[in-house]
Amino acid sequence: MSITSQLYPVAVLLALLLGLAVGKAWERYKLRDGRWIDRRRLRETPHYMLGLNFLVDNQVDQAIEELTQAASTGSDALEIQMILGNLYRQKGQVGRATSVHQALLQRPDLTTLEHAYVLLCLALDFRHAGFIDRALEAFQEVVRLDPENRYAYVNLQKLYEEQHQWPEALQVREQIARIDNGRLPEDQQILGFLRNEIGAAQARTGNTAAAARAFSAAIDVDSGTVPAYLNLGDLREGERQLPAAIAAWERLTDEVPDRAYLAFDRLDRAYRVSGTPHRFAELCERVIARNPQDWRARLALARHREAAGQAQAAFGLLLDALPHNPHALALHQATWQVLSALGFAPDLVRRYMDLSRDAVFYLDPHVCRRCRYRSTELLWQCPQCHEWNTFVEERMAPAKDTVSADALTEGT
Ligand SMILES: [Zn+2]
Repeated sequence: MSITSQLYPVAVLLALLLGLAVGKAWERYKLRDGRWIDRRRLRETPHYMLGLNFLVDNQVDQAIEELTQAASTGSDALEIQMILGNLYRQKGQVGRATSVHQALLQRPDLTTLEHAYVLLCLALDFRHAGFIDRALEAFQEVVRLDPENRYAYVNLQKLYEEQHQWPEALQVREQIARIDNGRLPEDQQILGFLRNEIGAAQARTGNTAAAARAFSAAIDVDSGTVPAYLNLGDLREGERQLPAAIAAWERLTDEVPDRAYLAFDRLDRAYRVSGTPHRFAELCERVIARNPQDWRARLALARHREAAGQAQAAFGLLLDALPHNPHALALHQATWQVLSALGFAPDLVRRYMDLSRDAVFYLDPHVCRRCRYRSTELLWQCPQCHEWNTFVEERMAPAKDTVSADALTEGT
């Protein structure tokens, strides 16, 4: 198990704990000093501090033992009971966690915020146990009692996303953006992706007008919402509005050049149907001029050239592309196809072999920047950590040492 995955639950617990100790809420609790925990009395037993230290060390069993002892010194120790419940949940004893938190909710003298905090713990218990409806209900009650509780909103958003309730998820994310006060670019990005999902759901039910509006709104809220351009174009193409489809896909290549390749097949086809196939070559050349490292534009142009009978030009493009991503299997496959069209001329085969000798072969690797999850295809939401737009192309350094490797071989 990795260190990060071990520490993550503890980090959440500590955040909760520290949030209680130093957060805004604490300022409000301090006015009622001594009602939560008689801290002086707690410090007289070693169990409280010992428990916290075990918690920091991720020694959950010992932490539970010490905190249980500490709690027994004062029956009013709401905060410790809450943490104990959370520790049970972390150990997988969700039933026990739930009953601890439910018992706390029965206390008659809870303030609104105390009530909200205990309810938040309970909602996390429900979510952990897979009781989606009860978790949703509890989180909603938390944000009703404490409308600035970002953590509860984030949980709500993820729950709605898991249920594919995109409009509800969007509404929740808008609340988070309100709390963040427009300071976080990730808010715009997530709002864009959620609007795109709303559009995709509407397109599936045949409501194309609403779908088109949702895709456009997704692009307006964040011009980096790549799938919205693709979906909008697909929708227009389905309505036989090819110029509008081309406009949507071309806009993607302008706004997000490093994802331009996602529209290549569509544009190549659409230009051909429109009787303007040369526009595809021009587009690829524009993309290459803007980013000389773009091997995908070279690959697309090479295929285009080969289809037009220009195999030599295609071969040159592929050889230019290979050093930029030597482990892209698609490049090697295209190269062999072109070599075949050129009759496997020995000098061409040798040039290719020299370039590709040290390449490592992967299908088309992408990796999540957040959790390192690997996928052959580009994903918009990570199946492991559920973050949006975290996938990047995994690249290895181009094989620079071909010459020295040759020298070594000759020397032996
Ligand atoms: Zn991930």
